[in-house]
Amino acid sequence: AKEQGKNCLRMYEPQIEEGAMRRVRLQSLLRIDAERSGFSFVVQPKVDAQRQPQGAELLVRWSTRDFGVVSPAEFIPMAEQTGAIELLGRQALHSAARLAAELGRRGRPMPVAVNLSPRQLLNPSFERIALHACQRHGVLPSALELELTESALTESAVYPLLGRLRRHGFSLALDDFGTGYSSLSHLLKLPFQKVKIDRAFVAEALHNAKAGVVIRGTLEICRGLGLRTVAEGVETDEQFELLRSLGVDEFQGYLFDRPMPQDDWLAQLFTC
Ligand code: C2E
Ligand code: CA
Ligand code: CA
Ligand code: CA
Repeated sequence: AKEQGKNCLRMYEPQIEEGAMRRVRLQSLLRIDAERSGFSFVVQPKVDAQRQPQGAELLVRWSTRDFGVVSPAEFIPMAEQTGAIELLGRQALHSAARLAAELGRRGRPMPVAVNLSPRQLLNPSFERIALHACQRHGVLPSALELELTESALTESAVYPLLGRLRRHGFSLALDDFGTGYSSLSHLLKLPFQKVKIDRAFVAEALHNAKAGVVIRGTLEICRGLGLRTVAEGVETDEQFELLRSLGVDEFQGYLFDRPMPQDDWLAQLFTC
């Protein structure tokens, strides 16, 4: 029996090892690529109720020789753990500022949104890094929208930072709204301008009466507080029609555009 147990264990070992190996390899590749700016940044437009572009969100993409394209859902948490997120985040800010500058040069200034990880905000240099990206590319902080999730707000130490960022002119958006515990108190305390309703609610809105109630309530609260609302993950005309009729300000999702290379978006904007 003992012999058998041993064999059983051995049968599962290779899989466990594979997963652990992948993690270790990815973590070291991440560090290397973070140091040599090995990420690319695609954009997904945000549109208004008339489907007119209102800006775009920058999303990181990472392609490796050994593992092919790795999803942000897998490597962002790793980058958070190892600290590679600091370099990645800096590259994202520069890429966003560069794109915002290009839009301005071509006479169509629109905000470019960039996702921030909790760890970036805890870096005492973050304010300087963000301002430097704007100065370097010649845009005002108001050209950038900083998207943060509630997980970035668990440390009250970041509250004063958010106030300072706001005073510099950065626009602040609360991402994945509805998935955390205390979103409402964050809206009262912190200087957000925008709320992004999580994809999960958008997906449920049509078929689940309770999700509909949550969305209506959220929109009512946001209107009362003077916050703009964005619905993310809009995939069907029915979802778009419903959300539009409820008064959502901006929309994002596969129905309008998939994330695309920045040059493709620029071509789409300037060749009509
Ligand atoms: P997120 O900020 O909530 O971004 C939205 C995600 O939903 C993106 O996935 C986008 O490609 C996807 N999406 C957009 N429209 C639709 C739709 O209609 N249907 C569906 N099913 N999905 C849609 P992506 O690019 O894989 O990014 C995943 C997450 O990784 C992001 O969630 C964000 O939290 C994080 N992330 C991405 N880029 C960055 C970055 O540069 N820095 C940081 N810190 N995090 C990032
Ligand atoms: Ca986001
Ligand atoms: Ca989101
Ligand atoms: Ca999300």
